[in-house]
Amino acid sequence: MFCKNCGEPLNDNQAICVKCGVKVGDGNAFCGNCGKPVEPNAEVCLNCGVALKKAAGDLAGQDKIVMILICLFLGGLGIHNFMMGETKKGVVKIVTTFLCGVGGILALIDLIKIATNKYVVDPDKLI
Ligand SMILES: [Zn+2]
Ligand SMILES: [Zn+2]
Repeated sequence: MFCKNCGEPLNDNQAICVKCGVKVGDGNAFCGNCGKPVEPNAEVCLNCGVALKKAAGDLAGQDKIVMILICLFLGGLGIHNFMMGETKKGVVKIVTTFLCGVGGILALIDLIKIATNKYVVDPDKLI
């Protein structure tokens, strides 16, 4: 894992880059997978081929703690999905919550994924 702002190698348990002080995962000048410089708007790293814009834990710029709280209290209404631009998923949550309460379970799954940095926003599914 590398700092996406300055390209410095990072430990997995590091939250802040000690070289540039930027939060791990922030920045778009370097590939977080191989540490090579990339174009700021590149979709994939030309060196290792990893997708740059949907790295695990990248909540479309949203704060993780805020997203966890919103998911916990308003998850059944899909509010966290709407905040991340996932309108379709949000609507599914509202409908299933009112029909049978399944939306609450889906929200719980999202909550666990967000807390464990496994939540991935897929730009292809944003509508
Ligand atoms: Zn850095
Ligand atoms: Zn790379």
